[in-house]
Amino acid sequence: MVAACRRPRRHHEGVYCGAHQQRWREVRREDPKLSEARWRRTEAPVSCAGEVSFVGLAPLVVAEILLGLQQRCRLAGTVTKDASLRAFCNELRAMQAKRLADYRGLDAHSDQVFRAMVHALMTESSRAMASPETEVGKDVWDLAVFGHNGTLDFSGISQRWLRETAKRWAADDLPRRRVRAGRRSSVGLNVRHHIGCLVRLSQALRRRPDRGEVPPALGRADMEAFLHRLSYLESTGKASGDARIRACREVRAVLNRARAMGLTRPSGPAAGLGEDFAIHRDDIPETPQRGEPGRDLPTEILRQLCTHLPAIASTEMRTGVELAIDTGRRPEEICDLPYDCLARDDDGSPVLVYSNFKANRLDRRLPISEATATLISAQQQRVRARYPHTPIRDLKLLPTDRRNPDGARAITGFSLAFHHRKWVDNIPELRAADGAEFDKRLVVLYAYRHSYAQRHADAGVPIDVLRQLMDHSKLDTTKQYYHVGEARRREAVDRVAAMQFDRHGNRVWRDAKALLDSEHARRAVGEVAVPYGVCAEPTNVKAGGGACPYRFRCAGCDHFRTDVSYLPDLHAYLDDLLRTRERLRAATDIDDWARTDATPSTQEITRIRRLINRVSDGLDQLTAEERTHIDTAIATMRRHRAVMLGMPRTRPVLPDLRAGATA
Ligand code: SF4
Repeated sequence: MVAACRRPRRHHEGVYCGAHQQRWREVRREDPKLSEARWRRTEAPVSCAGEVSFVGLAPLVVAEILLGLQQRCRLAGTVTKDASLRAFCNELRAMQAKRLADYRGLDAHSDQVFRAMVHALMTESSRAMASPETEVGKDVWDLAVFGHNGTLDFSGISQRWLRETAKRWAADDLPRRRVRAGRRSSVGLNVRHHIGCLVRLSQALRRRPDRGEVPPALGRADMEAFLHRLSYLESTGKASGDARIRACREVRAVLNRARAMGLTRPSGPAAGLGEDFAIHRDDIPETPQRGEPGRDLPTEILRQLCTHLPAIASTEMRTGVELAIDTGRRPEEICDLPYDCLARDDDGSPVLVYSNFKANRLDRRLPISEATATLISAQQQRVRARYPHTPIRDLKLLPTDRRNPDGARAITGFSLAFHHRKWVDNIPELRAADGAEFDKRLVVLYAYRHSYAQRHADAGVPIDVLRQLMDHSKLDTTKQYYHVGEARRREAVDRVAAMQFDRHGNRVWRDAKALLDSEHARRAVGEVAVPYGVCAEPTNVKAGGGACPYRFRCAGCDHFRTDVSYLPDLHAYLDDLLRTRERLRAATDIDDWARTDATPSTQEITRIRRLINRVSDGLDQLTAEERTHIDTAIATMRRHRAVMLGMPRTRPVLPDLRAGATA
């Protein structure tokens, strides 16, 4: 007679099994008025190991549990304990729940395993029965239904027109965002922030007598009140300057988009909203210009960090941090590296194959050192030993320890950042070059990316090459990753200008220390770069270097100037001339007139050789200290040079952070 019990009655005249006979006696003793019919419907079955009884549960509840279990097992690979599920079913039966959403007993449980199971079953089952069409009608959206993470809560917007406008904007915006299978993205965060800004606008509008419910009644004064409110919040420290700027931008974006979508038309939710209820570009405060220093870590700090790498207990996390230091990739790019991310170029040089998810550029190839390649190979061997049966295409280089039976799930950026922070906090104090304690809060995963850029910029890697290494589409973005102060740049120009030569190798004497501001400006506008110096020919300068009247015969041109910072380029150019001459002499498949025309002239070779000797002599005459200063100045100057013109180039070696392990 107990709905959930399948055991035989104890006595042929009785109606219960032995256990339920006993239980009924006890509950009736405690509560003589207890309804026996209800007790029969709600009483739990006698527990049996390995068995969970759904008998007595509503059919919809059973379907929801099965669906939730299936998703939890398939998608997350999670093991569900039968004891936890049995306890949950007993509670659902006891409360005679019609659907899982009716369950209200979670607060009484402190067991994390039980809570996680209930949460997963309820979430997965509700998602399986939801669709974007049903979700947009709610005030709280589960973004998983739209392919993203988290929830979107519109309930903080009290004005019906604004809430509907926000929903329509979000429904319009979400499909245009990128999704990544099985990975978290920041889309939910971004859209949530827009809605948060609208909640602030809603709060400001509630101060009106009509509580901001009537769109046609709103105007410029109401928007000004909102802007004043943001200003007040910043002045009291309740909102940062960035938050204020972002709030202005995001409210402006939503309102502009709403108008473009026709939501202010007579039939729209914001019908009658005046054109003056808007945020103009001038209303947005100026973004503060941040000066130096950048976010890169000094070389000595990186060296100290590298000596403490063995303190990271997890192999995957340690490898992730090492790869971040070596390659300068973003944390999510490191975490998502596939097992076969190591490749070789035609000449055998190792390259890292990764995906730039931020810009949606897949299978990028980054040159790496042999030390980094060895690090990756060792990790590959560990992963293969751990997952010998998983196909390679499914494996991750850094598989997570949690719910990962076949190695197809990678560690997350969040967990890598968590372990990295824990490690940095536990290592001894970091000391800067002057002995001062270095602020550990500045040691974040993203700082390695800035350090990578700065390290290569300091080593003289031209900015156009650095842009490719960083996989940026714009040079301006790359420039934000490394810094050379104006003072340092001016000092470098002063030093190097003192060692400037004309085409004959004659020193162009100038009192470099007294270079006027106008001279610095002239260097920026009155010269264009040529392969191993600068050109001051006015027509060519005006044309940005593309209109040389003498077919780029710079070594024989009076408009040409060079300095010590071009010495490596001059050497490379001379080598190139000599190589070309020898190659043409040996060639048999070319007519004599063509050979003569293509062969570099002896005069040009002699001129370049003399130029190199003169410039080198100038360096030899310097004291050791002057030489050090000039070397530093040359490195600074070369860092800002982006002329290509097909010339071969040399560059100094990168600093050695840990023996043989630089990228
Ligand atoms: S040849 Fe003379 S004018 Fe032409 S690019 Fe060289 S320096 Fe300028």
